[in-house]
Amino acid sequence: MKCNLCPRKCNIDRSAYQGYCRSGDTLKVSRAALHMWEEPCISGRRGSGTVFFSGCNLSCVYCQNKEISQELRGKEISVERLAEIFLELQASGAHNVNLVTPTHYVDQICKSLDISRKSGLSIPIVYNCGGYESVDTLKKLKDYIDVYMPDFKYFDDNLAMRYSNAPDYCNIAKEAISEMFSQVGPAKFDADGMMLRGMIVRHMILPGSSRDSIKIIKYLHDTYENDIFISIMSQYTPMRHFDDFPELNRRIYTKEYNRVLDYAEELGIENAFVQEGKASVKSFIPKFDNTGV
Ligand code: SF4
Repeated sequence: MKCNLCPRKCNIDRSAYQGYCRSGDTLKVSRAALHMWEEPCISGRRGSGTVFFSGCNLSCVYCQNKEISQELRGKEISVERLAEIFLELQASGAHNVNLVTPTHYVDQICKSLDISRKSGLSIPIVYNCGGYESVDTLKKLKDYIDVYMPDFKYFDDNLAMRYSNAPDYCNIAKEAISEMFSQVGPAKFDADGMMLRGMIVRHMILPGSSRDSIKIIKYLHDTYENDIFISIMSQYTPMRHFDDFPELNRRIYTKEYNRVLDYAEELGIENAFVQEGKASVKSFIPKFDNTGV
């Protein structure tokens, strides 16, 4: 079957050819473990059960997880093994199953969730993606996903082209977020403050791009007010030296971060997550060594 799962619409048979995401049609996973570095209502005290899939339909030049997104580090596994992994994460105390960069494996993930639910999987399922999603593919997830956690990376199409080769990113992300919200609605929490259903839209500020960040924050608040959570991230870290993108060779300045936070406060955003202290360190990035796979 030809793959048109995401807006790249490669229309190729992934058992024989590589599309933009470079993924075959067999699941490939590089880590499945408890993760403490998500937002507090996702990681909680015990950790989020993150499953990191290899490959990515964006391949941003500054990617913080390049080893798996672009170099495809990981291990090929069956749909049945992924179902077992979900159950193992639940048994280890995970507050949720957190599918990281899952877009190109949506069909297999749904099959694994069907299998694992029959065997007792009951914790919330989090879809943690780059925001470059097709509405038709998202509709397949309607009965599977409890919490959507997309990025909204760029408002300016020139930035989207420059860093992610996706000149239509902004409109695609707006439509995707709208579909996600229509599925899950306003946020709901359990007695311990863990998110059971809802949306967290993440935005990582890039060096020199705080004006673009402000446009994203304004759009999200104008459209969804306080029905969604917005996570405003300062953790950008240059993972290598960029000859072609010299502006990316530094972390963001405190004043850039504060400019965006001040704007969010002026707008009256109540449901926001912010990063304090030295968030831009590599300790956020786990080891992609097939742990738990
Ligand atoms: S999921 Fe991969 S192969 Fe399929 S359309 Fe998207 S980038 Fe292309």
